[in-house]
Amino acid sequence: MTGIDDLPVRDELRGKSPYGAPQLDVPVQLNTNENPYPLPEPLVARIAERVAEAARTLNRYPDRDAVELRTELARYLTRTGKHPVALENVWAANGSNEVLQQLLQTFGGPGRTAIGFEPSYSMHALIARGTGTGWISGPRNEDFTIDPAAAEKAIAEHRPDVVFITSPNNPTGTAVAADTVRALYEAAQAAKPSMVVVDEAYVEFSHRDSLLPLVEGRPNLVISRTMSKAFGAAGLRLGYLAADPAVVDAVQLVRLPYHLSAVTQATALAALEHTDTLLGYVEQLKAERDRLVTELRGIGCEVTDSDANFVQFGKFPDTHAAWRRILDRGVLVRDNGVPGWLRVTAGTPEENDAFLDAVRELMKEQE
Ligand code: PMP
Repeated sequence: MTGIDDLPVRDELRGKSPYGAPQLDVPVQLNTNENPYPLPEPLVARIAERVAEAARTLNRYPDRDAVELRTELARYLTRTGKHPVALENVWAANGSNEVLQQLLQTFGGPGRTAIGFEPSYSMHALIARGTGTGWISGPRNEDFTIDPAAAEKAIAEHRPDVVFITSPNNPTGTAVAADTVRALYEAAQAAKPSMVVVDEAYVEFSHRDSLLPLVEGRPNLVISRTMSKAFGAAGLRLGYLAADPAVVDAVQLVRLPYHLSAVTQATALAALEHTDTLLGYVEQLKAERDRLVTELRGIGCEVTDSDANFVQFGKFPDTHAAWRRILDRGVLVRDNGVPGWLRVTAGTPEENDAFLDAVRELMKEQE
């Protein structure tokens, strides 16, 4: 049988496996940071309406520049981000993963490097690899915060072309202070200059405001966002960025023409019409996230402070065994490869109760 390595694949892809969490069919799935609430029925009906409208012109290519959608995304950011954003500042793609890929295709690539402060979202390194960008693993403190001095030192030493700052960070839930982003931006400009990408996939769940206002006067700063989490629309595949209009012009050098289908644009526009309802679910999830933190600590777990819709908990002498024991009780959480720690996504109150029961039993076994 022919295997991957029998094919003339690029050297850097040899022996590698694709990204992906196990998709197991268990009663309680709290492993991929999805929103547990299905879209409300009135929104489902509105999507059907808007998609039907789009279907009538599917013989034509979609709006290549997604003007209506970007205008609505700009309106959403202006409303919630405490900073005015216009169409020219916004770009959208199929999930923020595609946004990040376009950024690395534009500002990374062969002979260039990107840095992230790990543990963090592992796709940053994988997208770097896929785009031929060298990857540098930057440091984090024991408590998973970023030490500005250590991070600045790494930037000065490696002079990366792209700096990733994930806030709130995945898988730890840690938010990054605006002062830290300001300092790392300065360090990155002094070293190269380079692009600083703040990945705010989970920011709607944060106790802190978005770092969006920092784009003012910082043309090399990009804020990356998604409709996969707060909007409860992971299946939609819609991510977007806010930055100086020059960045939006630059990513268009690498985007595929008509990359956002008319169906995607119509669906995202329908979802944006229901922003207030969807943000109501976010408030419920934040309360559940806080409950998970408190109850896990009550059970005797160590828990990393979380600004996201998930919680990192531990510490387990055998992480995989702990993951397995929780799974045996019908609850799927995530082992992100951070030794001693697991990650659970905030689900519905019932799902979270099932998870907490499973951990309670696990902790009893470990006494
Ligand atoms: N950034 C971070 C930090 C994430 O955790 C994720 C999803 N796991 C993404 C980006 C990508 O999300 P999407 O492509 O669904 O927008």
